[in-house]
Amino acid sequence: MFTGDTWRRHTTLSLPPAALVIGAGIAGASVAYFLSKLGAAVTVVDAGIHAASSVPSALINPVRGQSGGVDARALEGMQLTWELIRKLESEGFNIPHGQTGILRPIPNDKARARFERNLPPELPHRWLSPAQSPTPLPSTWAHALWLPEGGWVDGAAFTRALLTASGARVMRGRAMQVDGRWLVVDAQVSDPQPLGPLDLPPTPQIIHCGGSIGSTWAGEDRTHRMGSLLTLDRAAAEVPLSFGAYLAPSAAGGVLGATYETPAQGWQEPALPLGSVGWLLGKGESLADLSGVEVTGRWTGSRLSGLRNGQDENGVWHLSGLSSKGFLLGPLLAREVAEQVSETGVS
Ligand SMILES: Cc1cc2nc3c(=O)[nH]c(=O)nc-3n(C[C@H](O)[C@H](O)[C@H](O)COP(=O)(O)OP(=O)(O)OC[C@H]3O[C@@H](n4cnc5c(N)ncnc54)[C@H](O)[C@@H]3O)c2cc1C
Repeated sequence: MFTGDTWRRHTTLSLPPAALVIGAGIAGASVAYFLSKLGAAVTVVDAGIHAASSVPSALINPVRGQSGGVDARALEGMQLTWELIRKLESEGFNIPHGQTGILRPIPNDKARARFERNLPPELPHRWLSPAQSPTPLPSTWAHALWLPEGGWVDGAAFTRALLTASGARVMRGRAMQVDGRWLVVDAQVSDPQPLGPLDLPPTPQIIHCGGSIGSTWAGEDRTHRMGSLLTLDRAAAEVPLSFGAYLAPSAAGGVLGATYETPAQGWQEPALPLGSVGWLLGKGESLADLSGVEVTGRWTGSRLSGLRNGQDENGVWHLSGLSSKGFLLGPLLAREVAEQVSETGVS
């Protein structure tokens, strides 16, 4: 028999939830990883297409763009990302990366003053003259900001390692809710065919981490931005360089990339207009001497702007809109979402 007190205790007791994570980019894989650590039974459904997280080399860069903006949680996010990579590598996962430091060449005094205004004292950094740079810089740059704790990571390898380490059940296909039921459908065809119902425990927590393509599939009106990386036969500089575009080492050599196409209100088919190739190469040459470096291919992806994290009015959780900070902040924000989901639990 339940007395009033024991009944209250039982109704407020949170059990580890059963969770359905939609999307296995860096957001979904990190949510699955942390939820599993918290004891949840996690199922991940991933369409396996158009993941921005498969970027061949992503910067872990706390000082953003050409304005030098620093997210309030950049240092915390960067530290957690490196900690996770080290932990996964100690468990046997191969994640090409380098915590080499990042160099931000700065064109003039005005830009330096803008960066200085944004730099929190607790973020390790050093101002260098171009002559002191750890890698040769074209003479057009006036200053260089050295960020010793930054670096680069192979996006696909890191994401895959998190997903595997989570131990979650992974299903290939697109998750779709039809008449209140969750189905897995074939995402590769224009008229998605049902592959079957999702076999889920009762009342799972749903965490939507669908990135750019997933947002468009869900009918959201949000801002998307396409960009490309040219893959290179070798790294054009020893450490990542970033201003306008970035040059970075990668597992297969190096990359030259940026997200620079005109923003759009929906995911768009990956494309690399000829004009963009010229623009990108020009940006690369302004950062380093590219003579002798060969372009071996290209990778194009779309990223979603406008961070969405937390629970919506229908009880669905979200982690999306990581913009250009997916690998800087994704794991940190995923850990928080996982903790919130776990606290909600099932009663
Ligand atoms: C050119 C370029 C360069 C970038 N450089 C950097 C960088 O240097 N540093 C950095 O930190 N970030 C960088 N980013 C941004 C980073 O890649 C993204 O922020 C991050 O990868 C987004 O991760 P995500 O998990 O939210 O989405 P995604 O990686 O896009 O993953 C979403 C996944 O969900 C799946 N999906 C969607 N809907 C469904 C559904 N209904 N059912 C099943 N599956 C679904 C998709 O198929 C996909 O696999 C770059 C992005 C681009 C495009």
